[in-house]
This record gives sequence, structure tokens and C-alpha cells, in this order.
Amino acid sequence: MSKTFDLHSHTLRSDGVLTPTELVQRAADKGVDVLALTDHDVTDGIAEATAAAGQAGIELIPGVEVSVSWEGRTIHVVGLAIDPANPELDRGLAQLRAMRNERGREIGKRLERAGVENAHAGASEYAHGEILSRTHFARFLVDRGYAADVGKAFRDYLRKGKAGYVRNDWVSLETGVRWIRAAGGTAVIAHPGRYKMSAGAMRRMLGEFRESGGHGVEVVCGNYNAAEAERFARLAREFDLLSSCGSDFHGPEQHWLELGKLAPFPAGCIPVWERWAA
Ligand code: AMP
Ligand code: MN
Ligand code: MN
Ligand code: MN
Repeated sequence: MSKTFDLHSHTLRSDGVLTPTELVQRAADKGVDVLALTDHDVTDGIAEATAAAGQAGIELIPGVEVSVSWEGRTIHVVGLAIDPANPELDRGLAQLRAMRNERGREIGKRLERAGVENAHAGASEYAHGEILSRTHFARFLVDRGYAADVGKAFRDYLRKGKAGYVRNDWVSLETGVRWIRAAGGTAVIAHPGRYKMSAGAMRRMLGEFRESGGHGVEVVCGNYNAAEAERFARLAREFDLLSSCGSDFHGPEQHWLELGKLAPFPAGCIPVWERWAA
């Protein structure tokens, strides 16, 4: 019997809604055998998740989703099987959280100017961990009636070109990969289909990622698209990258995706977990 892997998920320590224990229990209920917890720029849910996984009889892969910038765009690099106690990674993530908090204050100011009262303090109440995410602003905007749902809040207030958008330079792709490698982890380009870039830019990015020591790419995502999976399976082969799969689950309100509900890899993919077995 092959195992069910879900290698991308969030808790309320970043911008998810479940506690680490609730997330692990849900994963077990949904038939996941191996779950990676990959909160944005923070690892402090891992200890609780690991304990819960022991109770639930599933395997927990310690992970993180690192925010980096490449050619002016934000790219997410998932680090899998990391040592969360590694000082280089730990210092790096603290730096990203400081940038997030600064950006959050600026988002708050801009939203105020656009007529949204008390935005920074309000959004901060939705953050239950050490990071402040645009998702927290989005939930605040929805609950105060500024937007009908989180997607609308992003479209009308938070994405590029909108009143609350603040451009941010995270760290370089190379630096993000270096931190993950320092912590013994496997570096994976998250949800590659979500970046708005040309085919040429995608190749350049994957080439630089591979040169920097990156290991894999998320070929199968929660928002499954067969053509996209085929495309990234081919690119993985071309750039000698391993394949990962993850739902990017943030909470049950994302009713269109679920923990462990992932399509199989296209033919020819080498799963990231083969690296861990070796
Ligand atoms: P941040 O890292 O703070 O800039 O926020 C990015 C997060 O917002 C992502 O990890 C997603 O969870 C969420 N997000 C981004 N775009 C959208 C969208 N259009 N609809 C819903 N959630 C989104
Ligand atoms: Mn998120
Ligand atoms: Mn992401
Ligand atoms: Mn994610």
C-alpha cells in the first residue's frame, strides 16, 4: 500500500485557522499518512504538531514556507524535513517576520487612507502567532463588511495595484534556499502555477533555484490542474528537480481543497521523499 503524502499546510501560527493539533487530527481523519506543516516564515507550530502526530499515528515532516523575492516578484520556497532549531534558519525567519510586521503597519496606514478604520490593530487581532499576513487583513475586511469574502478582499484591497498593497523585498531566492539547506532541509518551489511569469522567466527562475541548491518543485497542488501538473513535471525533469505534492490547506473554509486530496504525479516524477529514504 502506498502512503498518502500532503507536504504543504498551515496552522494559525501563520495564516491558517486550525491549531497544530486540530490540523494533524484532520489530516489523520482524511487519510494522510505523512503531513508536512509549512507555516509562513515561522516554525513554532512544529513541536505541538509533532506531538499530535504521535498521538494520531501519522508522520509529521517539520517544514516552513519561506517568502523570497526574485526579479521583483514574491516566490514561496517550501523547506521540508528541516531542523527548526537551526540557528541560521531561525535568524533568517526572524528577519522575515520583522519585515512582515513593518509591511503590516504600512498596509494598515494605506487602508486607513482608503477609508478602512483601525486596519492594523484590527487585522492584528486575527493573527494568533508571530506573523502578520495579508490573509489576516483580508479576514478583518470581510468581517467588517468591506469585502464579501477573502478572495474579494485580496482583489479589491490587497493585491498589486490596490489601495492596501505594499511592495516588499523579502530575501533573495538564493538566501532562502541557503537557510533551508543549512537546516538540513529539502527546498521546493511552492505552487509554481500561481506565479504570473512568462515561460522564459519560469525557466530562468528554476535554473537559478537549481544553481542555488534547490531540490524540487510542487508538481501537484491542492488547486489541481492537470495541464499545469504535466508542465511542471516536464520542467522538473528538465531541471533535474524532484517532485512534491501539497494541498496548501489553510482551513476548512477553503472548501475546494482538502488535506491529502491530491492527484497522483504524472509519469516520470521522482518524489521528494525518495531523497529522505536514501
Ligand atoms: P502574505 O504572505 O502576507 O503576502 O499573504 C499571502 C497569503 O495570502 C498566501 O499565502 C495565501 O494564503 C493568501 N492569498 C494570496 N492571494 C490570495 C487570494 N487571491 N485569495 C485568497 N487568499 C490569498
Ligand atoms: Mn497563506
Ligand atoms: Mn504560498
Ligand atoms: Mn502555503
